[in-house]
Amino acid sequence: MDENFLLQTKTAQTLYHEYAAPMPIIDYHCHLPPDQIANDIHFKNLADIWLKGDHYKWRAMRTNGVDEDYITGNKSDYEKFEAWATTVPFTLRNPLYHWTHLELRRYFDINELLSPKTAKKIYDDCKEKLQSKEYSVRNLIAAKNVEVICTTDDPLDDLSHHKKIKKDNYSVKVLPAFRPDKAMNANDIPALNEYISKLSIITNINIDNIYNYLSALKSRHDYFADNGCKLSDHGLEHLYADDYTDNEVAEIFLKIRKQQPLLPGEITKFKSAMLYHFALWDHEKGWVQQYHLGALRNNSSRAFRQLGPDTGGDSIGDFSQGKSLSKFLDKLDSENKLAKTILYNLNPADNEVMAAMTGNFNDGSVAGKIQFGSAWWFLDQKDGITKQLNALSNIGLISRMVGMLTDSRSFMSFPRHEYFRRILCNLFGDDIENGELPNDIACTGKIIQNICYHNAKNYFNF
Ligand SMILES: [Zn+2]
Repeated sequence: MDENFLLQTKTAQTLYHEYAAPMPIIDYHCHLPPDQIANDIHFKNLADIWLKGDHYKWRAMRTNGVDEDYITGNKSDYEKFEAWATTVPFTLRNPLYHWTHLELRRYFDINELLSPKTAKKIYDDCKEKLQSKEYSVRNLIAAKNVEVICTTDDPLDDLSHHKKIKKDNYSVKVLPAFRPDKAMNANDIPALNEYISKLSIITNINIDNIYNYLSALKSRHDYFADNGCKLSDHGLEHLYADDYTDNEVAEIFLKIRKQQPLLPGEITKFKSAMLYHFALWDHEKGWVQQYHLGALRNNSSRAFRQLGPDTGGDSIGDFSQGKSLSKFLDKLDSENKLAKTILYNLNPADNEVMAAMTGNFNDGSVAGKIQFGSAWWFLDQKDGITKQLNALSNIGLISRMVGMLTDSRSFMSFPRHEYFRRILCNLFGDDIENGELPNDIACTGKIIQNICYHNAKNYFNF
């Protein structure tokens, strides 16, 4: 992991160091908690910043036989950190091994490998640094040349933290993104009703039919736009694009309000209608809509009962994606209502399906209007990134890609942009040195800079 880490040719090294590395970061999708940025908090120690919310590390620790007490349980911060340090040598060839050591280097100038032998010293060194001013979360972000961050927010969020960050004139733009997953989750009728009641209070709209439900949600969409939002995001197993009539959906909504169970077909009709309306609003405002497709969530009911969602019990699903995705996009496209769209898939078997689908709905209005999004979650590693970039190159135009995002809950994950950029430069470097691309470094360097920064800057209009 020296300065030429992952850069196997001279050309790749030039492309990375001279072109990719200096570019600012636009992190257009992440899960950083806006309250922590608003309050510019300090993390107490490495366990606090690394282990409290990172289900990637939790899974590795469980796999390594660590007791849950040392992962999400009651053990002390240092005991948990020690359990992580004991796990790290067993993460060889998992991206966690690279991420962990990149983060130690880039944030703390620590070049040692983390293991039980070095754990105490590294913990103490970092603990001291984390108290200092330059390690507040705002400084941690700004130090990595970040221009924009988009968080992920529920429509009910009052966005007070985003407002505070803006009012403070923080050098990094921290913008909300509209994620209405809970507003369409007809699989859980009691939770959906609770959600509707909260929405009713916030918007001061009496919600007794689908029409005022949609207007209440639309008013939140408008509110998000007023606060700088430019993107929506949806986490779905697959797109829902069933045929329905407005009357059917109105009836389904009344059943929901009466707490009556829905038939499976009614659930998917309701979801199809909601997604369609969200998409219309995104188009109207010129937002970018993102669809994260293919996660099979909460697989272990034991772990779910004990720890709740987003704690490491999710995996790659094998849902059929193509047909419903095509139908969904086509409906919007044929009405001339298709917003800029990014499709992310979690199953690598769908890479080519997604890359090909994006090409169907580009209309010449915007370069790269429909994007095949960066390798995500389980695919966010050297092999997954390489495969995504190759599928995109083979079937679409990688030159128009809007590049990397962290999708992370951790304030120290910005080196993942570096990781992506190194892999990107290495691919182009190989092609040039193999004689498959012209040996024109300036021209290729420009494309690299576009993928790392300019394409996103032009695409999102932040
Ligand atoms: Zn995400």
